[in-house]
Amino acid sequence: MTTNVAEFKGKKCNSCGMYMVEPSFSCPKCGSDSLDEYIFDGMGKIYTFTVVMVGFGHLTNKTPYVLAVVELKEGLKVLTIVEDIEIKKATIDLDVRFKRMDEKSGPIFMPAEY
Ligand SMILES: [Zn+2]
Repeated sequence: MTTNVAEFKGKKCNSCGMYMVEPSFSCPKCGSDSLDEYIFDGMGKIYTFTVVMVGFGHLTNKTPYVLAVVELKEGLKVLTIVEDIEIKKATIDLDVRFKRMDEKSGPIFMPAEY
């Protein structure tokens, strides 16, 4: 099995230390525009999730899939799709890691054990 190591890029506020995933030009917390690019470790846990049975748009062909809020090691929560997982094995607190960034869907994660 090949392993794709992708960088999960975000930003970190130099003023208050807040992490951001979305492209931002100023900090949503303190308003500072002093942001540095930050590469997330990419490891996290499923904080909460739902199994999507009926997709829409470009996701129609992916169903069923796991839509999860992943809590990163940095403490940030991001909405992601978890791929390469058996639906019935999806569970809260499961260790996951960043797999790739999808242009349309956003960050994609996969189980950390793979
Ligand atoms: Zn800030």
